[in-house]
Amino acid sequence: MTMRFLSTRGDSDAVTASAAIAAGLAPDGGLYVPSRWPRHELSAFDGLDTLDEIGPVFLAPFFAGDPLADDLTAVCREAFSFPIPLREASGRDRLHVLEVIHGPTAAFKDVGARFLAACLERQQHGHRRPLSILVATSGDTGGAVAAAFAGRTGTQVFVLYPAGMVSPRQEKQLTCWTGNVQAFRVAGTFDDCQRLVKNAFADADLAGRLRLSSANSINIGRLLPQMVYYAAASLWHSRAHGRAPSFVVPTGNLGNALACVYARHVGMPIDRIVLATNANRTIPDYLASGNWQPRASVATLASAMDVGDPSNMERLKTLCGDVDGIRDEVSATAINDDRISARIRADFHEHGETWCPHTATAIEAYVDMPDSVRGDGDWIAVATAHPAKFETIVEPLIGITVPVPPALAKLLDLPTSVIDIPPDLTAFSRHLR
Ligand SMILES: *Cc1c(COP(=O)(O)O)cnc(C)c1O
Repeated sequence: MTMRFLSTRGDSDAVTASAAIAAGLAPDGGLYVPSRWPRHELSAFDGLDTLDEIGPVFLAPFFAGDPLADDLTAVCREAFSFPIPLREASGRDRLHVLEVIHGPTAAFKDVGARFLAACLERQQHGHRRPLSILVATSGDTGGAVAAAFAGRTGTQVFVLYPAGMVSPRQEKQLTCWTGNVQAFRVAGTFDDCQRLVKNAFADADLAGRLRLSSANSINIGRLLPQMVYYAAASLWHSRAHGRAPSFVVPTGNLGNALACVYARHVGMPIDRIVLATNANRTIPDYLASGNWQPRASVATLASAMDVGDPSNMERLKTLCGDVDGIRDEVSATAINDDRISARIRADFHEHGETWCPHTATAIEAYVDMPDSVRGDGDWIAVATAHPAKFETIVEPLIGITVPVPPALAKLLDLPTSVIDIPPDLTAFSRHLR
């Protein structure tokens, strides 16, 4: 049966996977979600072990009846081209770590960006003009998208980031590209970058000249592959230990954690799910009070999670109904900067573990759990970025230099190219022609 995707706002036509991926946002402004949920029997995964074996089987129902269905094996091979190991945490009995940090830009966003790029490239055949992808980034997203699309035919990427507001290594990952990827350093804030992208989409002249698309984190093409590493980790763990693991997930815009909820919803062996936010406490406050109060974001050490109005809550509400339904699925804890720093320092000195600030929120949330919850099962903390990417925060806390992983080192050695622009559409669109 063909799988269709509907908008969370209920006012857009149902479309198949590749159309939902090409559109990004639904026409009514909502987010695409599956119109019905498949149910996986675990026996379907017997004999399958690696991510690129599990991925096509897990994702097949979501692509049923779609032109990309026959390409799933190849798309998964491109998306899961680097290891995502599940290992024991040192010095803690029943804690494991899922390291989604070994991709080209050393953060979990590589998975979604690479899957999206592999899907979109395959949809460009027969178009004379390239697909122009606009991305506003506060750091990690832009690098992952740039790396994923670099060199792919039929697509070009324009990345906008705020001058002086991204880390030196993040900036390098945004500006080391040639060919079909161009970085713009905007004299303004992240909000200015987002506004520029929005205005470009609304500009009739640009829309007439270019085929515009976006690659932001609400695209269902980024969520779907993230489910695969939760499916794989839950299979690996339950095969090895005979128990379904619980997950604790660093959370900002809620894309990564939502993929975990979805994976459990289709039948994967996952017990509890805990969301760890930084001082942007919109989600924990909502679960506590029942009032949804989005707010402006505050800057924290875990900057990729600085989100005050998490977009994917719209999808979680669609899945669970009211706040009680959401409380049945997840719990949430906020971790402030002092506790992030203290956890990075303590775990390095006591256990020899080096966490990035985002991963540290998950570890701290785990340590902070009541004994009755923590001791009740096996836990997997999701590591979302390599600490070497946030060395200016991590190294002063642990007192040594964090070795740079080879994939990241390769990018840091490339020459830089960037166009400086003021925060206005006239300047930006001149470069888009
Ligand atoms: C984007 C990001 C997060 C937050 O993920 P969401 O899907 O937005 O909740 C956490 N950690 C790192 C390193 C990130 O880049």
